[in-house]
Amino acid sequence: MNRIFLKSTAVAFSSLLASLVLALTLVPAFGGAVDGNAWLMLTICPLAIAWPASAFMFWQSEKLRAAHRDLARTHAELAAAHRRLEEKASRDTMTGMLNRETFFAALDRSRRKTDRGALLIIDADHFKKINDSFGHLTGDTALLEIAAAITRAVRAGDVLGRIGGEEFGAFLVAASDQEAVHVAERVRREVELIRFQPSADRIVPLTVSIGGTICACEANVSELMRIADKRLYEAKSRGRNLAIFDQGISAAA
Ligand code: GH3
Ligand code: MG
Ligand code: MG
Repeated sequence: MNRIFLKSTAVAFSSLLASLVLALTLVPAFGGAVDGNAWLMLTICPLAIAWPASAFMFWQSEKLRAAHRDLARTHAELAAAHRRLEEKASRDTMTGMLNRETFFAALDRSRRKTDRGALLIIDADHFKKINDSFGHLTGDTALLEIAAAITRAVRAGDVLGRIGGEEFGAFLVAASDQEAVHVAERVRREVELIRFQPSADRIVPLTVSIGGTICACEANVSELMRIADKRLYEAKSRGRNLAIFDQGISAAA
């Protein structure tokens, strides 16, 4: 408020000065004279018009600036909420891995950047039996342990997703053939090492079967999925707890 008063006063006195300079130069130039009443008008008019007009203008512009600040703050809050929501919507609530849709979108993006990499589809073996024997909640715990084992086994920067109930996808970014086979074996082994204890006196083995494919440059995401799925099916039919790549079996129990 103080600032508005000072600025308006400055404008009013500038107007007064301009009015006096103009009157004292123009009126004599046209042969006139500035007399007593004219002095009064020359002083009162600029002060009476310029002060309220500029005070109103400065007040409005202050209000506008405050509204802009509020708008910018609300916009930043909205953007942050949007980012949080987007992050939440992209994750599987149970494991924290990417959900199916986001996993495939990330895979597609990664494929556009580089041809190199490998896709693994990892499926828990005989998982229905765990649910049937110990209940769904215990099944959930087993699933979380499997997800944690997969996370430990892949490399930093690899992309993980839960692509089905007890099925996970791992995209091994820029992995060579050997690296991919090595990571798949590490995943298989890490799950096998879990000591899952649904009750005090029982340890139940957990295993996964893995179908893998080394990315060929011309293959798109659905083709990669189809090949890896075929290999997974093969791993299941050959006895499970196996990782099979397009080139052959990489690991066996
Ligand atoms: P396979 O070795 O052939 O894969 O056998 P499987 O029993 O694992 O496969 P199947 O497709 O017959 O059954 C999958 C089971 O996984 C059944 C389903 O209830 C269970 N499952 C899927 N998602 C969840 C989950 O979020 N929590 C729990 N507890 N179970 C789940
Ligand atoms: Mg299964
Ligand atoms: Mg399955």
